[in-house]
Amino acid sequence: MGHRKRQGGHGMTDVLILGGGPAGAVLARRLTGLGHGVTLVTCARRPAVEGLSLRAVEGLRRAGCLEAVAAAGMPAARRVDWNGLHTALNGEHLVDRSRLDAALLRDASAGAVALSHGTAAAVRRGKDGWLAVDAAGTMLGSGRFLVEARGRRAPNAPAQESGPRTLAVGRVYLGPAVETGSAAFSFADGWAWLAALPDGRRAVQLVIDGAESPARADLTAWHAATVASLPQAAGWIAGCAPLGEAEVRDATAIRRSPGVEADRLRIGDAAFAVDPLSGHGAYAAVAWAFAAAAVNTLAADPAALPAVERFVEDRCAGLFAHAADAGKQFYRAEERWSGRPFWQRRAAWPPAPLPTADRGIRRRAVVVNDRIEERPVLVTPALPRGVLAIDGVELGPLLDSVASDRCLDGDLARRCGRQLGQAPGRVAVALAWLANNGFLPGGAKPPSALTTTMKNANS
Ligand SMILES: Cc1cc2nc3c(=O)[nH]c(=O)nc-3n(C[C@H](O)[C@H](O)[C@H](O)COP(=O)(O)OP(=O)(O)OC[C@H]3O[C@@H](n4cnc5c(N)ncnc54)[C@H](O)[C@@H]3O)c2cc1C
Repeated sequence: MGHRKRQGGHGMTDVLILGGGPAGAVLARRLTGLGHGVTLVTCARRPAVEGLSLRAVEGLRRAGCLEAVAAAGMPAARRVDWNGLHTALNGEHLVDRSRLDAALLRDASAGAVALSHGTAAAVRRGKDGWLAVDAAGTMLGSGRFLVEARGRRAPNAPAQESGPRTLAVGRVYLGPAVETGSAAFSFADGWAWLAALPDGRRAVQLVIDGAESPARADLTAWHAATVASLPQAAGWIAGCAPLGEAEVRDATAIRRSPGVEADRLRIGDAAFAVDPLSGHGAYAAVAWAFAAAAVNTLAADPAALPAVERFVEDRCAGLFAHAADAGKQFYRAEERWSGRPFWQRRAAWPPAPLPTADRGIRRRAVVVNDRIEERPVLVTPALPRGVLAIDGVELGPLLDSVASDRCLDGDLARRCGRQLGQAPGRVAVALAWLANNGFLPGGAKPPSALTTTMKNANS
């Protein structure tokens, strides 16, 4: 794989990605940038209006997805009514997901990704790689490495952890054009997200517990009655006419597994999907660009599979935990209905993680130059994933150098710099970081901590 010639059309490429949402499109671009030939198979998604966080759009910009950034437009004002408090928070980019995803595909094809439009119905492992076909058996694409990025519609893998079952019932209306903006508010049995798009469309999405699910046949009537009972929602669509029926989407936070094998991997919502309240959905999908390092590493060195697997599993669990915790904090902040099942269940999930007191040098899988390698990193309770380097100076070798020096005087940065072949200015920055984090005498920890750390580093 690596730098083989790219192939377009339906010829076998290095990587076959199924699903052209933010996760699949961003990864496809990253991989072609690293010299891999990529086929992206995708079909149209169901219409949806969503609010992208500022950092999701920043992630798209960094990934070079400028069409998608343009489609996201300017951030709109966002109002939040929660626990009786009214706040105007930093804005969000209101997007019509069909338009955003079309822009993502333009970005992918500008990045030399071969696009194939169709609905993958079956995926088979052939002699040389993976083949995707539609329901009629027509070949959609093939590749030696398979990336599953079909979002929540991907064939299920077993769940490793999941939050309370959550549904989002949404309906779109059309009315006179008003100022673009969004609002979120809580109510006794859930919360609502409201959006007003520049073309006069308004969206009302009601998020409820799965146990309260209205029968599918009654969805539109249920939505209309609930909206009528909530003054903020009713006011939002005053003078508007519905554009269609209400639709339901599963919004349960769920972590499956990235399922790393030597020639396949799941990314984005197919690996883990977060509660929309966390506001991390699209951001988490874009953040999967790190999976490019996983594919890149396995292509060059299949023996690296255990390290790649550990790295991707850890990142996946870490990103999910972060988003789950952000959601929990929001749910806990609403205290008016804390006795109602919707709020009770969500204030209790996820259970608090066990505190870790781990400190010192550990071997961890990290990304270096688009490859995953095991290196010594410095772990602290606040930074459990560990820190490889500060200002380009790797902390493991630096601590070894400090340990062998023993002097710890004002000239330390210069001596360590000489030993490590690093500029003394950079070494001084890294030493200051170590001192501030209690790994050097004079920092937050007594000098004896240095001895402990040195032992860990050398073990
Ligand atoms: C109710 C709800 C509201 C949300 N609101 C927000 C929000 O406001 N802001 C936010 O940031 N996130 C939000 N999210 C989360 C966000 O939608 C996802 O996290 C994000 O889109 C995941 O990106 P992805 O690329 O992994 O998957 P997706 O965006 O789901 O992309 C998957 C792609 O695969 C394609 N596909 C599916 N099946 C096939 C097939 N068989 N063959 C070929 N292609 C296929 C789909 O058409 C789609 O293009 C929300 C989620 C839900 C459920």
